[in-house]
Formats: sequence, structure tokens, C-alpha cells
Amino acid sequence: MNKNLSKKLFVISGSSGVGKGTVLKGFLKKHPEFMLSISCTTRKPRVGEVDGVNYFFMTKDEFQTCIDNNKFLEWAEFAGNFYGTKKKYIQKCLEEGKDIILEIETKGALQVKKQMPESVLIFIAPPSIEALESRLRGRHTEDEETIQRRLHEVKEELRLAQQYDYKVINDNLEDAITQLEKIISGEQEKC
Ligand code: ADP
Ligand code: 5GP
Repeated sequence: MNKNLSKKLFVISGSSGVGKGTVLKGFLKKHPEFMLSISCTTRKPRVGEVDGVNYFFMTKDEFQTCIDNNKFLEWAEFAGNFYGTKKKYIQKCLEEGKDIILEIETKGALQVKKQMPESVLIFIAPPSIEALESRLRGRHTEDEETIQRRLHEVKEELRLAQQYDYKVINDNLEDAITQLEKIISGEQEKC
């Protein structure tokens, strides 16, 4: 994509297991100039996850201190854990002229849109709720209680998704990546 075009903040959301991580991985492989923001979380690392790479893993007290000191651009509780994006991290990336993608849940995404109306919200939707559940289970990263908590969020996520700028259905993976590329390049051309 054209490097001389102005930078925008792209925010991607989607229910747990929809495949947003997989779609983003495919997109970033083709467009390594984009930076994927690293969030803070109180969730425990999954097998293979690395602190400072996948997330900045924190205790609840550390997270609360960041909230108290107004360090977050946005934060939210999701399925029993806290997640947040540090203001400083995003400011630094934008100042350096980097194209940034945030992969965050819907409540946080709408907070970003409120503060930065020029940001672009993209919701990744599943072809069906059955497919979503089957992908979430098939990933084998969560126990049954966590799966239930995550599925419980879906209805509200789909409701909030109506406020998004774009929706991409992740049925065929390659098609979803292509749609994401088209949305992002189209938005950059508007600048
Ligand atoms: P998320 O980041 O949204 O929680 P993941 O990217 O971890 O979801 O994907 C959840 C599971 O679904 C993974 O096992 C992944 O391989 C699978 N998956 C992703 N996209 C598709 C797709 N288009 N079709 C079938 N399976 C998919
Ligand atoms: P997971 O635990 O599966 O990594 O993430 C759970 C949910 O938290 C996903 O919907 C993911 O997009 C979201 N998430 C990750 N980082 C952030 C963040 O910084 N802020 C918010 N609001 N949500 C986040």
C-alpha cells in the first residue's frame, strides 16, 4: 500500500473464535508495514504466548494503577478479564507515522471511536453462530467455563457491531483477508 498516504487508526473486533487473529495474521504477512498494537491484559498467558509480544501481561493491581493514572486510551472488562490499550504506545506509533491496527473488543473500540472519530472500525463476523462456537472449541485454548463466558458476550457484541464502519464475514479465510485489504486501502485513499 502507498506509504505516502496519511496514517489512520484501524480497529478490528469480532467475537472470540471468529478468526480475527488468523485474518490479521494473513493481512500482516502481506502488509508488514502495519503495526499491530500490543495490549495490556490481566488474562493469564496461553501456552506459547510471550509477554511484550502477544500482550503486556499484568496483575489486576497493576492494571488498576494504569486506570487510576489515566494511562489507557481505552479499556474494558471482557469475560472476566481486563484489557486495555496504552495511550503512550498509540501516540508514539502515530507520531512515527506508522499505520496501526488495534485488535480489541467492541466496548473498547467504541471508546476509541468517540475519542478519535477518524478511526475506522471493522467488525469480523462469523458465517453462523454454530461456526463460531465450533472454531472457538476447535482452538482448544479455553476451558468450558471460559468458552461459556465468551459465548455469553456474542449477542451484545453483535448489537454493538451495528455502530461499526464495516463488516467482514470470515467464511472463506482468503476472501476475508482480501476484503480487509480493500477496506483498508480504500480508507487510506480517502485521506
Ligand atoms: P480469534 O482471534 O477471533 O479469537 P482465531 O484467529 O484464534 O480467533 O481463530 C479461531 C479458530 O478458527 C482457529 O483454530 C483458526 O484456525 C480457525 N479459523 C480462523 N478463520 C477460519 C476460517 N475462515 N474458516 C475456518 N476456520 C477458521
Ligand atoms: P483474548 O483473551 O482472546 O486474547 O482476547 C479477548 C478479547 O479481548 C478479544 O475480543 C480481543 O479483541 C479483546 N482485546 C484484546 N486487547 C484488548 C484491548 O486492549 N482492549 C480491549 N477493549 N479489548 C481487547
